Amino acid sequence: MTPLLDLRAITKRYPVPGGNSVTAVDAVDFHVMPGEILGIVGESGSGKTTLSRIAARLIPHDEGRITFDGEDITRISGAKFARHPKRRALQMVFQDPLASLNPRFRAREAIGDPVHRLGTAAERGRAAELVAEAARLAGLPERLMSAYPHQMSGGQRARVDIARAIVLRPKMILLDEPTSALDASLQAHVIRTLLDLRSELGLSFIFVSHDLNLVRLISDRLLVMHRGRVVEQGVAQAVFEAPQAEYTKTLIAAIPQVGRRRSV
Ligand code: ADP
Ligand code: MG
Repeated sequence: MTPLLDLRAITKRYPVPGGNSVTAVDAVDFHVMPGEILGIVGESGSGKTTLSRIAARLIPHDEGRITFDGEDITRISGAKFARHPKRRALQMVFQDPLASLNPRFRAREAIGDPVHRLGTAAERGRAAELVAEAARLAGLPERLMSAYPHQMSGGQRARVDIARAIVLRPKMILLDEPTSALDASLQAHVIRTLLDLRSELGLSFIFVSHDLNLVRLISDRLLVMHRGRVVEQGVAQAVFEAPQAEYTKTLIAAIPQVGRRRSV
């Protein structure tokens, strides 16, 4: 099987005052197979957000190649990719839905927005149906469809964001700390929703989080980042049970209540 997303030797430097630069992502390689959930973990500042934004072509990178769904998208600029046919197959869910959702859009309009921007004429014609189906899959009750973001709870906003991401049936969703603003029980709900979506739609996910306990519940494979580099990658369970890199061992040792087993 060919990977759905494949990143090779990705490097990203940010300029800093004084003419220097900080290497936020340093020669990183990774791939995601169709239907796979890849967890990316690492402490704050390790380069997770930079890497996922590069993967979604939201920010430019300095070196390396990106292939998505059989196409080399390395040279497509972020601005062009926004209108590219592959864009609809690769969606993103951000950390803070209150910041990413338009405050003037009701849930229904927020979820329908990608259909109007990226959908075909046929899809635009059945936008209402697509929106209702996405809301159902994301577990969003009908009564919330007329609510504005400020009238919803954090968990409800996260579901609107997820419904918005799935409305055009993408192949992959990239989630950057999607649940970090939620309490533990809501996190569990959102995680279950994502797993249901994978079984119903065969979606692939990249799930970025500093929370190892959470990543452990959802990921098939794990990428451990430290200071812009991948220090370890492998099958999630194997990495948790027998970490190889010193940094991974430290991360796992630092997990609160290191239960060896934990059920969803
Ligand atoms: P994470 O998501 O793991 O917390 P980030 O990708 O946000 O990590 O950051 C990685 C590194 O890049 C950090 O050192 C951060 O300070 C730096 N960085 C991130 N964004 C910028 C930016 N826009 N300009 C300069 N440095 C940045
Ligand atoms: Mg981040």
